[in-house]
Amino acid sequence: MNTRIDLARDPLEILANDFKGLYSGELGLSSITGGQSAADAALANLDITGYAKNRSEVLPKSRRGASVLSPYIRHNLLTLNEVYKAVSRAPFQDREKFRDELFWQEYARHLYARVGTRLFQNLRFEANWDTPGDGWNRDMACIDNVVSELEEDGWLVNQTRMWLASHWSVRNQRGWLRGQERMYQELIDGSRAANLLGWQWTVGAGTGKPYGFAKWQVDKRAPGLCKSCPLKNACPIENFPEETSPRQLERDPMLDSDPNPKLTAGPLQPIRLRQPERVLLTIDSLGDADPALASNPELDVVFVFNEPALRRLQLSARRLGFYLQTLQDLGTRRNLEVLLGDPYQYANEVDVAVTFAPVPSFKKFKSLAEVHPYPWLRLPHAGSVRSFSSWRHKLDQGINQDH
Ligand SMILES: Cc1cc2nc3c(=O)[nH]c(=O)nc-3n(C[C@H](O)[C@H](O)[C@H](O)COP(=O)(O)OP(=O)(O)OC[C@H]3O[C@@H](n4cnc5c(N)ncnc54)[C@H](O)[C@@H]3O)c2cc1C
Repeated sequence: MNTRIDLARDPLEILANDFKGLYSGELGLSSITGGQSAADAALANLDITGYAKNRSEVLPKSRRGASVLSPYIRHNLLTLNEVYKAVSRAPFQDREKFRDELFWQEYARHLYARVGTRLFQNLRFEANWDTPGDGWNRDMACIDNVVSELEEDGWLVNQTRMWLASHWSVRNQRGWLRGQERMYQELIDGSRAANLLGWQWTVGAGTGKPYGFAKWQVDKRAPGLCKSCPLKNACPIENFPEETSPRQLERDPMLDSDPNPKLTAGPLQPIRLRQPERVLLTIDSLGDADPALASNPELDVVFVFNEPALRRLQLSARRLGFYLQTLQDLGTRRNLEVLLGDPYQYANEVDVAVTFAPVPSFKKFKSLAEVHPYPWLRLPHAGSVRSFSSWRHKLDQGINQDH
């Protein structure tokens, strides 16, 4: 049964009353506000001058060059295409580097769309996958500082995500699948596609070259942080972890070519089987420009929090708070009903228009009245997704004839 959520309350009050047992950690909100209005303001203020040089800076925060757009991009409040175009006048080097990173996001989406839940397992090389235990020793100032930021803000720069993934798995030999799950619970930009890719690539399962994290990066990217460390005279990461050459796994043909690229990409034109009564939004597309939403301006809109999934995932209050803020913002422009229950069952009972999402769970929708195309930056091709460069190479060749 679906329960109605009254959005005319403070997000923390909603969480405390209506989401009991459905989130983890302390009640609180990220400093990054959810919603289309906040996303539009962030894009309007975007200035990537100095990005190429400063994207990996960690501390002081004033030196950071990262855009902090990821929570908006992840939920398509800002599409990759829109962000790509927005930097057309930026200095050449910064623009190229930034656009390259947007392509990493698109690569993650293409890879996940193609291989699906296979991305939860070592992709190409053996890496510690499932050893239990917590891989973040918080008696180290660097780890504590970063994990605290993750817990308090639900967001990290790419550099410190790599520190955490490497420390958990490469140094401390804990299974990366468990580490990625822990990070996924906290990140307000958490996506299976980008998070699994980030962990696979850092621990070496995707590349065969594990990323080593040591005091060297802390001194370079967060100078001065070690001075406050209780372990400054006995630093456990003084040296880089021992280099290893992970065993290569048997070749997975799905990485070389896609037997069904049309299925991977989803529809390229809207498909209408019945007249929709409502627009149903999914977590993968919450923006005003969501194709199903924009094509049906007269329809009421529904979002259904997936209660069984939330109970299992135990996402942080920050993450759910970001969603609530996003929905509250949308509710100022559209007639919106927010429910807690089962979105797939809802779509069986009501004729809905939905935007395709390139994630395995989309297959759980069995009876949709109208399906709209996903807003890809580039259409998925049928060629190799084995590495970013092989994927990009095929993309640049424009191998989309299969569609
Ligand atoms: C272990 C690990 C886990 C990660 N988990 C996630 C995740 O759950 N969700 C997520 O969106 N990103 C994830 N990333 C990728 C990246 O760290 C974040 O996208 C980036 O730090 C977000 O900050 P930003 O918006 O300031 O990025 P910027 O540097 O300003 O880049 C602009 C945009 O490009 C994309 N981007 C940048 N770097 C990457 C990258 N390495 N891979 C994919 N896309 C990228 C993002 O959409 C980002 O918003 C992960 C990386 C690692 C190493």
